[in-house]
Amino acid sequence: FEQLSSDFYGFENTLTEVEKDHIMKLRAYLESEVKPIVNDYWNRGEFPTEIVKGLAAHGATGLSWEETRPFYNSAVFRGWMAIELGRIDASVCTYIGVQNGLAMGSIATCGSAEQRVEWLPRMNSGEIVGAFGLTEPLSGSDSAQGLRTTAKRDGDTWILNGSKRWIGNATFSDITVIWAKDVEDGQVKGFIVPADTPGYTATRIENKISLRIVQNADITLENVVIPHSLKLENANSFRDTAKVLRQTRAEVAWGAVATSIGAYEAAVKYTSERVQFGKTIDSHQLVQDLLAKSLGNITASLAMCMRVSQMLDDGIQKDEHSALAKSFTTSRMRETVAWCREVLGGNGIVVDYDVARFFADAEALYSYEGTREMNTLIVGRAITGKAAFI
Ligand code: FAD
Repeated sequence: FEQLSSDFYGFENTLTEVEKDHIMKLRAYLESEVKPIVNDYWNRGEFPTEIVKGLAAHGATGLSWEETRPFYNSAVFRGWMAIELGRIDASVCTYIGVQNGLAMGSIATCGSAEQRVEWLPRMNSGEIVGAFGLTEPLSGSDSAQGLRTTAKRDGDTWILNGSKRWIGNATFSDITVIWAKDVEDGQVKGFIVPADTPGYTATRIENKISLRIVQNADITLENVVIPHSLKLENANSFRDTAKVLRQTRAEVAWGAVATSIGAYEAAVKYTSERVQFGKTIDSHQLVQDLLAKSLGNITASLAMCMRVSQMLDDGIQKDEHSALAKSFTTSRMRETVAWCREVLGGNGIVVDYDVARFFADAEALYSYEGTREMNTLIVGRAITGKAAFI
């Protein structure tokens, strides 16, 4: 096992030998097959669909659930798997976050035993790609109460109407978990909607400056009829949606550290090669200052992620714990990628040198899965007992 130089305190040494082997297997695949192609795909704004099966074959998905996991493992280990993905590319990490955390996570958390057996293994192998449709054009931060998409029970079917925005993977996903308000009881419920269902359309969002590899879609649902068997059995109020988001927010915190690590590793390499004033720029004090501050942010954020994942394993993680990790690590990430960009000088804004990609991608992580403000307000509610959302 090779410890990452960015894991300064050696947190990863706490993993088991089996977990470390699994990590090295994924790292080898990502470094040989994915790292060489990401800048080109980023520039073209396209997703390399050929990696879907490769990521699955190298164990990037299905680690949490009985139906799919290769061995019993910890949330801390799964965090380190996200580090491997995100230090190569934030879009690839996000693709897995959607496929594994949000789409498979919804089915695993809210599906019946039959639904789990039917969908999880095929999603784990990459045969079926999933998406997660919560956000709407008119409802982002307020999606707990503001959803306008409706679901109406009609005998043994449900009829869905409405629209969704920003839905990751949905330009090529086979199914999307759609969250909609039941017109009868006003509660948010979850539905598995196959992409070929009449009335369902997904249109790619163009001209993004962040996460250009993973694609997002606007979705419209016009009288989409699905059988009752595709309603997630245990998704019956927004509290159930929140159970999925609590876990994925902590995973985004790991993804944020991974993005910082990707930028930091590229910056350390660049500064050891670039010569100014007759010596490599990593010999200059002010450059070392920025590298040391970046490593400080990474190390503090890793410590926080380790603990919040241990709390999940111990069954004591609450919404405010993962919200604090998400808001803190994404803020530190924004500082870190900017410092790493700075030490590359002009080349810091050219994608070919990698850091520019991490710098731009950080902006999307900062805002998705609850903005910094919303996650801060969840923590504020825990501190004061007062909800300041409205
Ligand atoms: P808004 O809610 O309009 O917020 C705008 C600003 O106002 C923010 O700064 C916000 O913090 C602030 N604000 C709003 N209300 C308050 C308040 N009460 N107090 C203080 N400040 C406030 N969603 C999905 O469902 N599935 C996906 O797969 C998905 N993927 C995404 C991928 C990307 C790249 C992006 C950018 C978004 C994705 N999202 C997805 C949506 C994402 O979760 C939302 O963008 C996010 O929740 C913010 O919502 P919004 O963009 O509508 O911003």
